[in-house]
Amino acid sequence: MKVTVLGLGIMGAGMARQLAQKGFALTVWNRDAAKAARFAGARVAVTPADAARGADVVLAMVADDEASRGVWLGEQGALAAMSTSAIAIESSTLTVDWIRKLAAAAATLGVGFLDAPVTGSKAQAESGTLSFLVGGPADLLERVRPVLAAMSGSIAHLGPCGSGAMMKLINNFLCGVQVASLAEAIAMAERSGLDVRQAAAVLGAGSPGSPLVKIVGQRMVDRDYQPNFYIPLMAKDLSYARQTFASAGIEIKSADVARERFVAAERDGRGQQDIAAIVELMRRQTQ
Ligand code: NAP
Repeated sequence: MKVTVLGLGIMGAGMARQLAQKGFALTVWNRDAAKAARFAGARVAVTPADAARGADVVLAMVADDEASRGVWLGEQGALAAMSTSAIAIESSTLTVDWIRKLAAAAATLGVGFLDAPVTGSKAQAESGTLSFLVGGPADLLERVRPVLAAMSGSIAHLGPCGSGAMMKLINNFLCGVQVASLAEAIAMAERSGLDVRQAAAVLGAGSPGSPLVKIVGQRMVDRDYQPNFYIPLMAKDLSYARQTFASAGIEIKSADVARERFVAAERDGRGQQDIAAIVELMRRQTQ
């Protein structure tokens, strides 16, 4: 199968490398061409349309709704260049509204479409152990299953188009509020004079000890802010979750509070750091 990946950021690069290693004929495109030029084992395309021409599957992994709109429907967008036998997969974390609009645009052009965002982060993208959350027709999923399986340890089919995006926003809402609360907890442990490493170990081993609390808590303690998940992307996810919940009549105040923390960290010049870095603002806080 000929597979195209649009977007070679932290996640897209790892996913594309898995596809190349597992023998798919791969084409890549990235807005910053330097990142694509460094990518070994793939044809490097000059536009999303160029990348999509002749592909059986085109997968996008870009930042947000605006980026997705550009790569699929922009002037040199991928969708219009795709064959009607090909399948478009949107794996970025996006709003459900945008996913439905994109699916409608694909249907107008006769191109099959799935939303398939992922859970897991940089390490899982690099090791091919992501979890795909898929929305869309089951027969399309069966056709692309070998492609998704090459990048993942599990594939959940959640329902019609938009179901994957919905599940992902619910998931990341919980991730975002946990990280914001964890930063407050770690700062308090430090200020109280507790041994913060021991405190983080207690939290990790006890009821609050989700995988996220364990991993991100360790990074906070170590002051290791090498990016796995950039701060502005978590702010975006919480904003998208808020809108999506609000349109169903559910107000998620905790998401607003958590989002403020990530926005403040971005304003503090931490936009290129990992989400763990929000703890630095809590360490400085005096009231
Ligand atoms: P990233 O490293 O910041 O990469 C973002 C990608 O989007 C880059 O390829 C970037 O291109 C591209 N992009 C941004 N704006 C664009 C635009 N206007 N037009 C075209 N391309 C654009 O982010 P990431 O961590 O790989 O995340 C990608 C997606 O996966 C996001 O939706 C994120 O929320 C989601 N996600 C992330 C994680 C994680 O742990 N990192 C986990 C699950 C899901 P340039 O290189 O040119 O800037």
